[in-house]
Amino acid sequence: MSISEKVKSVIRDVPDFPKPGILFKDITPVLANTSLVHEIVQELVKDFKSGGYDAIIGIESRGFIFGSLLAYELEIPFIPVRKAGKLPFHTISESYNLEYGKATIEIHQDALKPGSRVLIHDDLLATGGTAAAAARLVHKLGAETAAFSFLINLSFLKGDNILFDEFGVKPNYLI
Ligand code: IMP
Repeated sequence: MSISEKVKSVIRDVPDFPKPGILFKDITPVLANTSLVHEIVQELVKDFKSGGYDAIIGIESRGFIFGSLLAYELEIPFIPVRKAGKLPFHTISESYNLEYGKATIEIHQDALKPGSRVLIHDDLLATGGTAAAAARLVHKLGAETAAFSFLINLSFLKGDNILFDEFGVKPNYLI
């Protein structure tokens, strides 16, 4: 079985979470499978080890999990992007539209060196709104979004096209 097939078979689809009509992709069974976690990290590292990245951004909260493991393996800094009000030092922020209402994410203002090449990681790509806001934070700090990495792409929502059109970077995903 390929790594994508394994991941697909282990992810749990939870209907009507967090609200009616949403089929939630639950990665907790993946996290409980130590050999699969190891395989996923090795697969992600293969894609990125020759990319010359200076830092990895993980998006709160599930983006912290494989984002940290990948940063550790690649031996580059891990930078958290968090929901508004969670980071303790001076921040810059970016707001984006959700289906109903708005969300805001933040990064520390000294988190990235200008000109650095950044890899943005999250567990799942849906509409692309969250990852696009993270990339705008990267650019506000004078750095470059060199890659996007996701475990899951909900391809019917075309978030990958949206990210490519805005940032000229084709997102990577396992499934
Ligand atoms: P987007 O901004 O529409 O691309 O949504 C992506 C964000 O929503 C990511 O931070 C995901 O963690 C979260 N998300 C949306 N749908 C799901 C899901 O089905 N499972 C897990 N996370 C989800």
